[in-house]
Amino acid sequence: MRARDLITPYFKAHGRSIAIGMVCLMLVDLLQLMIPRVVKWAVDELTLLAADGRTLLRHAVTIAVMALLIGVCRYVWRRCLLGTARFLEADLRNRLLGHLQTLSAGFFDRAKTGDLMAHATNDIQQIRMAAGLGLVALNDAILMGAAAIGFMLYIHVELTLYVLIPMPLVVVSARLLGRRMHARYQSVQAAFADLTEIVRERCAGMRLIKAHNEEAAALAAVTGVSQAYVDENMRLVGVTSLFFPLMMMLTNLSLAVVLFFGGRKTILAEITTGDFVAFISYLNLLSWPMMALGWVTNLIQRGGASLERLKRILDQQPEIQAPDTPASLPAIQGRIAFDGVTFSYDGPQGRPVLRDISVEIEPGRMLGVVGPPGSGKSTLLSLVPRLYDPCAGRVTLDGIDLRALDPAELRRQVAYVPQEPFLFSGTVRDNILFGCPQSCSNRLDQALAEAALTETVAALPAGLETRVGEKGVLLSGGQKQRIALARALLVDAPIVLLDDPISQVDTATAAVIVAAIRRMAGRRTIIVVSHRLSAVRFADLIVTVEAGRVTECGSHDRLASAQGYYARVYRLQELDHAT
Ligand code: ADP
Ligand code: MG
Repeated sequence: MRARDLITPYFKAHGRSIAIGMVCLMLVDLLQLMIPRVVKWAVDELTLLAADGRTLLRHAVTIAVMALLIGVCRYVWRRCLLGTARFLEADLRNRLLGHLQTLSAGFFDRAKTGDLMAHATNDIQQIRMAAGLGLVALNDAILMGAAAIGFMLYIHVELTLYVLIPMPLVVVSARLLGRRMHARYQSVQAAFADLTEIVRERCAGMRLIKAHNEEAAALAAVTGVSQAYVDENMRLVGVTSLFFPLMMMLTNLSLAVVLFFGGRKTILAEITTGDFVAFISYLNLLSWPMMALGWVTNLIQRGGASLERLKRILDQQPEIQAPDTPASLPAIQGRIAFDGVTFSYDGPQGRPVLRDISVEIEPGRMLGVVGPPGSGKSTLLSLVPRLYDPCAGRVTLDGIDLRALDPAELRRQVAYVPQEPFLFSGTVRDNILFGCPQSCSNRLDQALAEAALTETVAALPAGLETRVGEKGVLLSGGQKQRIALARALLVDAPIVLLDDPISQVDTATAAVIVAAIRRMAGRRTIIVVSHRLSAVRFADLIVTVEAGRVTECGSHDRLASAQGYYARVYRLQELDHAT
């Protein structure tokens, strides 16, 4: 795909509007160019003392009609060209957001949210400007410029050539300054991305900032980035404020030339007074096309660069892809096997986070995973819904390599509660129904009960309709965790993955959740990661993961009586209970 191909469909789909807009735009230009002709006639008649009330009225009415037509046509072209470009903007934005959703978890590990925001707002806006205003400026620069020069040539060739002497200077400086403006604009955009990101982050982390009395430091950090943004803008303004006065100066220089040489030619009667006045009007009309010429290169360059950046993202292929002919999953059993799995977040050459892991879980059985923080437990879990693919070895479901399945089909079989529960702003109900919005209220109640939420929700100010705030800030960690759990239980998938489901709840609540997990046993294949052994001790099989390797494997009784990590942690947690 070429970058151009991104916008051609827009020009095709809205061809009619754009054509109407262009015709009106050209009409405006032509009418504007006609006005000095009428003025010329009036002035000539006046100087020849041939004007009377009727002829003056005729000229005045002509100009008034033209003004009216110009007004109407301006309205139409603004709607048809500038308005229609908004459709392009919306199309591109939807396309970008749609595409981002297809990209894999790895992409979002690397991408900065601020950059993505800049693409979705700034870049797309630049493309809209190039496709809307750019078209207008291009038309005016060429049509209006050429026609104004044409009319001037018609009045007096030599005079026109004098007047045009500064014009190459205009074009050259527009070119050079345009290029510099573009470069500086890039830096402005980068600084803007940094600014959005830091403001977003500081707002999200406000509680921590307050708790540590770090407001001053946080403000200083934001102020620093904000200042950098101002500095970049000032550098941009440095060039733009050179550009416009320079353009004005050059046109005024031309005016001086017209006044002197044109005035002499009027005295010598080479041209009429009316021609002289009309010539000055054309010169004024010419100043905008000349500026537009400089401006349009800038606009189109910016739009082009933004289009390139957008295309680079749209060209990104998701790392996790559906195979061309996905294997079908007949009646799913739910046997999951890790078969010599090695994984690194940085690709096959990177530091391995999981090394040569082989574990198998029978359908309807439960696997417990324990291990110190950072040992790779969450990573192991994220391989099952194929958020990432192993670098070596394979993960299978009922004997089929996950990579042979359609990821969407696979994910329908999996209910996954990540370690960090994520809530969307909205109500508690919205968040629980996230995975299956159609669920009936019986099932919702059941999910609430299994996640030990019934009483908690009843105690909330508006029950299920309580708004949770951005990312659920209005709830406690344990509440968020249980909402995420209820969301997964509601999905009723044959495979359930729970990442540390009782890490943030008290012992009594934990007992309710553990009982719910145990009730699922037999019907579903469950993998529970937990640093609290009470969540895994009744599992059919427990593995200990240390530094990315499985170091122990067996039942609770076996591991508790061995000499490894599990037994050590078990003794410590027993001690905890005793005290
Ligand atoms: P656990 O769940 O056992 O605490 P994790 O699976 O979360 O451990 O992390 C294992 C290792 O992988 C850690 O060293 C962590 O820094 C690294 N890691 C986790 N997530 C990412 C990620 N998205 N990108 C890069 N490295 C990661
Ligand atoms: Mg973890």
